[in-house]
Amino acid sequence: MPLVLDVPTMLLMIAAASLAMAASLAAARPQRSEGTGLWALGLVMHAATYVLYAMRGRVPDWASIVLSNLLLAGTFAMALGAVCRFRGRALPWGRMLAPVVAMTALYMVFLDDYRARIVVAGILAPVQISMVLWVLWRPQPLAQLRGAWLFTVGLSLQFVLLALRGLLAAMHAIPLDGLMRSSPMQSFVFMAAFVVVILASLGFILMAKDRADAENRYFAVHDELTGAANRRALIQALDRDLARALRSGEPYALLMLDIDHFKAVNDTHGHRAGDRVLCHVATVLRARLRAQDLIGRYGGEEFMLLLPNTTLDGAAALAETLREVMEQSPCLHEGRSIAVTVSIGVCGTQMESIQDWDRLIQAADQALYRAKAAGRNRVVCADLPRRSRT
Ligand code: GH3
Ligand code: MG
Ligand code: MG
Repeated sequence: MPLVLDVPTMLLMIAAASLAMAASLAAARPQRSEGTGLWALGLVMHAATYVLYAMRGRVPDWASIVLSNLLLAGTFAMALGAVCRFRGRALPWGRMLAPVVAMTALYMVFLDDYRARIVVAGILAPVQISMVLWVLWRPQPLAQLRGAWLFTVGLSLQFVLLALRGLLAAMHAIPLDGLMRSSPMQSFVFMAAFVVVILASLGFILMAKDRADAENRYFAVHDELTGAANRRALIQALDRDLARALRSGEPYALLMLDIDHFKAVNDTHGHRAGDRVLCHVATVLRARLRAQDLIGRYGGEEFMLLLPNTTLDGAAALAETLREVMEQSPCLHEGRSIAVTVSIGVCGTQMESIQDWDRLIQAADQALYRAKAAGRNRVVCADLPRRSRT
């Protein structure tokens, strides 16, 4: 039995699904909208398209034929805008508006030729969908793919069915008795429109959610300003490293580094310059570390460096190199060169018994304090912290 469904019912169901999805997107709107607002607007246009279709014969043709398809082209234009926003690109107004203008003009020309209009839609909509998918996947795919795939499957389905219907119409291979006359082809196209609304909207919500989750995971362990590990991640890493060093008997070292006279940088050049200097210090330090080392921001302008499998002498030599490099690498900010020096406290230990990370930090901190007291821009090594002293 051929699949023949009631056309007005299908049209209104598509409109209802579009509105429901637009409302869901508005409700699930992430903190940074990232295109969800544009896609919700696209869905409202999609709903209006299908309401106007459903009113064919009851409203003037310019509304049910020309305006409705203007809105349909607008829906895909919004999808393009939404994906551009999501990818952090400027809205391509030309590529968004040109197909809408073309669709409107051609539908006015072919107001009395249903077959020609089907062919036009079979060309223009797939072109618009291709542009959306191009932006979604090029030049490199997103980091999280689940939502992007869902969105892609939805739009691809629409692409295939509209293009196929256009091709068959151009070849006079399918009977076309008008929009409201049910046929297997019409049923497939409208079912696809229904499924597309749901897949593309869920895909978009999933894309936004996956990105927000990834950001949350990142900022749970990284300092927002410098990208270095945050205090929590440092302590976790230290705990893990110390247990490993105890098992393997490898030496372990920790550096505590503090920017000299940092308050003066803020006072002289402004807080933004101070922030810039913090990022600069983190970048310079990171470039000199090995893959297994970890740099983290312990406090305001204080960094901690964890150096697994490193002796006290090795750590002291590294600290001296870092101090020199920092001294020779002024921070450039808005055309000004800001001199940066650092003081470093070094603590290194051979793990013989479970060392308390608290005591290691304390020892490095005291060494740092002595470096400051001795005039700054220098490296001071701590005594080995021993449990027997407690
Ligand atoms: P010392 O050589 O003894 O370390 O002196 P200092 O000026 O570096 O140290 P002090 O502790 O007196 O000042 C630290 C300053 O760091 C004060 C605080 O406003 C600033 N600071 C802390 N966090 C940030 C930040 O995220 N951005 C900026 N711009 N400044 C910060
Ligand atoms: Mg300081
Ligand atoms: Mg400090």
